[in-house]
Amino acid sequence: MKRVKVSNNVIRRLPRYLRKLDELSENGVSRISSFELGQQLGLTPSQIRQDFSCFGEFGQQGYGYNVPVLRSQIATILGMDRGYHAILIGVGNIGHALMDNFCFSDWGFQLAAAFDINPTLIGTTFGGVPIFSMDELVDYIRNNPVDVAVLTVPKEVAVSVTNTLTENGIEAIWNFTNVELTEPNSSTIVENVHFSDSLLSLSYFVSERHDERAAKAAKAEKQS
Ligand code: ATP
Repeated sequence: MKRVKVSNNVIRRLPRYLRKLDELSENGVSRISSFELGQQLGLTPSQIRQDFSCFGEFGQQGYGYNVPVLRSQIATILGMDRGYHAILIGVGNIGHALMDNFCFSDWGFQLAAAFDINPTLIGTTFGGVPIFSMDELVDYIRNNPVDVAVLTVPKEVAVSVTNTLTENGIEAIWNFTNVELTEPNSSTIVENVHFSDSLLSLSYFVSERHDERAAKAAKAEKQS
């Protein structure tokens, strides 16, 4: 696929478009204008047209977007059809929860194996995924396709496990450890998942609303 440089903001919006298009398909909607799509997503129609124009012309003047076609084009842009293989390191609470509840295959990934140091987990399978010893990690990476490592180990070992992964050719890490793994000169692609970032953004908006209400109430009291 020919790649043009696209801004991070556009890339971050693509999964939202995909989710909305899936919802529209489930509701039997097969065609949508940039105006309607914008209204449903809280974006302007020109923003939507601009986002999609980064990847070529998807819509048709006066017709709008064909929902399944647009969905499949966005899925292709996101790499969902490439059959990426993932491994998971650290089958604790978060690792277990991901293996149990997160359907990797819905997003084009196959979770092929997990690794841990806990002898009670090693040799077992969870949700059909085998759990191996960390001693087997390097061999596994050398002999199997691995595109992404899901990192759910404790903080204290996040960097050392990451080093083992990158030294053995793993290029991408989905990082749940709460340790900032993004290093300026590293070629590893890291997606940090900090649940607290999302919660704190929410906290900011709740505080803002409380302060606005308090200011309004104080003003009203002054006037009365
Ligand atoms: P969490 O909720 O963060 O998953 P937890 O309390 O279930 O936490 P942690 O102590 O964070 O457990 O460890 C997560 C998993 O990582 C455990 O299953 C643990 O055995 C495993 N683990 C610990 N150290 C390593 C390591 N060096 N390599 C691989 N797995 C590890």
